[in-house]
Amino acid sequence: MRIPCPTSTCFAENDVEAEVCGRCGVALRQYVRLLVYPYQLFNQGLQQARADNFARARDLFAAVVYWCPQDKIARNALAAACFELKDLAEATQQWEAVLSLSATDVMAKQGLAAIAALQTASTSGSKPPPKNSPAKKRPQKSGRTPGILKRKRRR
Ligand SMILES: [Zn+2]
Repeated sequence: MRIPCPTSTCFAENDVEAEVCGRCGVALRQYVRLLVYPYQLFNQGLQQARADNFARARDLFAAVVYWCPQDKIARNALAAACFELKDLAEATQQWEAVLSLSATDVMAKQGLAAIAALQTASTSGSKPPPKNSPAKKRPQKSGRTPGILKRKRRR
């Protein structure tokens, strides 16, 4: 991995392991640490999601989105984690934010479609089941979850 020097007059490419910029000599260590931190958080989020620890995954993805609001992959992952946690309002909001960044994003469209399908399923019954009744539990563990959490990040 190569990273450009952050000095505005330099921009020389340096190895990610470099202590200082090879051209201008500015210290790179802290800068690189800041730069890669969101990726580390994202990867931790993926690990948590794979372990079905979606609350922790959501918090990690939310941190990445806070740092990098334009990061569609992180936002998709955040939405998917919210979806897993049945927080459909937040999932909808995040996927709509992805679509506002990129109107053709397949993951966000699939996610919103999955939410719409769930909402249709829950409102199509003649009368709502009483609270905590077993009938309220719908199988939705597999198949419907958008695939972002299952994939490795490409960078
Ligand atoms: Zn430099």
